[in-house]
Amino acid sequence: MRATGHILLISCYELGHQPFHLASLLAILQETGYQPLAIDTAVEDLADDVIRQAHFVGISVPMHTALRLGEQLARRIRTINPRAHICFYGLYALLNADHLLENTIDSAIGGEYEVPLLSLVTALESNEHPSLAGVYTVQHSSEAWLQRTPFRVPARQQLPSLQHYARLQWHDELRLAGYTEATRGCKHTCLHCPITPVYKGRFFAIPSTIVLADIRNQVERGARHITFGDPDFWNGPTHALRITQAMHQEFPEVTFDATIKIEHLLKHRQLLPALKETGCAFIVSAVESLHNTVLHHLDKGHTQADIVEVFDLLAQVGISLRPSLLPFTPWETLESYLHMLTFFEQYHLIEHLDPVHLSIRLLIPPGSALLDTPGSHAWLEDLDAAAYTYRWHHPDPRMDRLQTRVAKVVEAAERTNADTVETFFQVMALAYATQGIDFSVTDALTRYGPHKILPHLTESWFC
Ligand code: SF4
Repeated sequence: MRATGHILLISCYELGHQPFHLASLLAILQETGYQPLAIDTAVEDLADDVIRQAHFVGISVPMHTALRLGEQLARRIRTINPRAHICFYGLYALLNADHLLENTIDSAIGGEYEVPLLSLVTALESNEHPSLAGVYTVQHSSEAWLQRTPFRVPARQQLPSLQHYARLQWHDELRLAGYTEATRGCKHTCLHCPITPVYKGRFFAIPSTIVLADIRNQVERGARHITFGDPDFWNGPTHALRITQAMHQEFPEVTFDATIKIEHLLKHRQLLPALKETGCAFIVSAVESLHNTVLHHLDKGHTQADIVEVFDLLAQVGISLRPSLLPFTPWETLESYLHMLTFFEQYHLIEHLDPVHLSIRLLIPPGSALLDTPGSHAWLEDLDAAAYTYRWHHPDPRMDRLQTRVAKVVEAAERTNADTVETFFQVMALAYATQGIDFSVTDALTRYGPHKILPHLTESWFC
């Protein structure tokens, strides 16, 4: 075992999953002889004593919420242990590095983080001043590290058990759920997506033997469902299919979900029956909007007609589609927002939604491809570095007010675990009220009739 100072790895939030981005890093550090301590503050306490003993603290920031929580935590660590080196790693670390490096952290690593982070730990151990490829510091700027990682089977022994995390709601039953990734990055470059400025259209496949070993480890620990958290599971459809077929052969009772782009679901529609046969419980897809103008501005590669077709195709094979939405952008109008709500009501698709998605407002992080959008001067404002986004306003001020009201309603509903369909109609009432039209939630609920329980995870997912 290597003589080393204490290495503390922290995850603050990974969408309700046991943190993959701790497990992946733990595997590589342990193989090299280090013995890091891993804490998931989403479900565990982090004691001051543990912070005091750390020489190196790596905080995983794979999404916006994790970054917000991670910055609060880094400030606490800085106060308790000013000498510890604090490194943010993951998708959001580099986008906001300039702000974070001012006084919160010492380094940031984006893209394929394992190798540069290992180099950083080794350099610090030798008291070298880190000036390393892939490691962004005040003295040394660096791009995201986009070289293939020597992937290892994620080391999960140290992490809290799956009982602490989101479960699959499967009819009346709650099933323990695991999480893995078969690819990283994305070959698409949707303009609003934080993956675009980091991965620039590249993605990396994780060897299927590693993915399957990770699944096996989690099934042995009780998982009966696996979430494939790839940005897009069908960036490499053959790779994905090989993995789900092998998983189904070994664990026929284990179900799964994955995120797949509308364009890919249409292009590879012949593979949909195989998805169902291998245990797919539901598919998440970044629908974003039903307004073709918005979809064009985001460069999503699909249209409203494509979305309708995918809902139909998946219904035919018996898989439910859970759309993620981005309804508050500069291009969505009050009319198109109402049109979107009416679509979900008319096609009886409300239960496919997670109400938080009705409130999501566009984030424009530093480096976002949207900053170059022609005409953006009409809505784009200054960077709010502390909020990790450029400010923007909707050309129709009613939309900004509506977003604030919708966010309050869905947050309250989330806290009280309120009925999805009722929350949906409360949002619809707000949207109609913005137009000066009365809308009865009670009448709408009666009109809608009985509610379905569709397979979904018990924690809402949003970045
Ligand atoms: S939104 Fe989805 S398809 Fe588009 S770049 Fe991001 S991950 Fe890829």
